[in-house]
Amino acid sequence: MNLIALPAFADNYIWMLHDGARAVVVDPGDAAPVRAALDAQGLALAGILVTHHHPDHVGGVDDLRPRLQGPVYGPAREKIPGPYLALHDGASIEVLGLRFSVLDVPGHTAGHIAYLQQAAAGAKGPLLFCGDTLFSAGCGRLFEGTPAQMKTSLERLAALPAETQVCCTHEYTLSNLRFAAAVEPGNRARADYEQRCRARHEAGMPTLPSSIGLERQINPFLRCDAPEVVASARAQGAASDEAVAVFTALREWKNRFR
Ligand code: ZN
Ligand code: FE
Repeated sequence: MNLIALPAFADNYIWMLHDGARAVVVDPGDAAPVRAALDAQGLALAGILVTHHHPDHVGGVDDLRPRLQGPVYGPAREKIPGPYLALHDGASIEVLGLRFSVLDVPGHTAGHIAYLQQAAAGAKGPLLFCGDTLFSAGCGRLFEGTPAQMKTSLERLAALPAETQVCCTHEYTLSNLRFAAAVEPGNRARADYEQRCRARHEAGMPTLPSSIGLERQINPFLRCDAPEVVASARAQGAASDEAVAVFTALREWKNRFR
């Protein structure tokens, strides 16, 4: 199975999984890069997975329908361009012979879902398509959810096996790492990772996928109980040392961080 990140817009990736004959794409905000990739490799489009309703994730769905030979899957608790198969937490689907389970991860939007490969097909670990919930070194903005909801969603993802491959939708890694450095200047793993990401960026390569094990080490939003993170959050107005208070202060700080 091949995993490719198709660049779209300024900083989106449309993830494509293919087996050489058939492909599935995740969050096709734009149809053009998907069509180009299908044509270049002579692939049929066997399905579309959608994590949430934002236009940069669903904008290409209707344009791709004429080529689509399988279902569109999407979140049951929000509206995306229909028809589609509405998935609730715990649902299990099969795409290209791989089994994915569905996780509710509200916060960025109220009905946001993630897709987790149930058994790893390769040496690199199970795939997680998490949309705009968990980013490398960051997390999505809270458009429709509360900090407590987003914190719970991120904890769910952080509890997945360390080798889980984090396939998120945006290339925000380097700017997220600038914020992470302000939150946790003493985190050595974060500094090392920033160097590796910079090298990849300069080589014109995606910084993604990341892994859950790495995110636990470097992502401030998954480290709300690390002493340096707590201290920085308190300095930015966190009401207490409690993880939700720390998370809330971090998210608000990030919103105004330049
Ligand atoms: Zn979004
Ligand atoms: Fe997005």
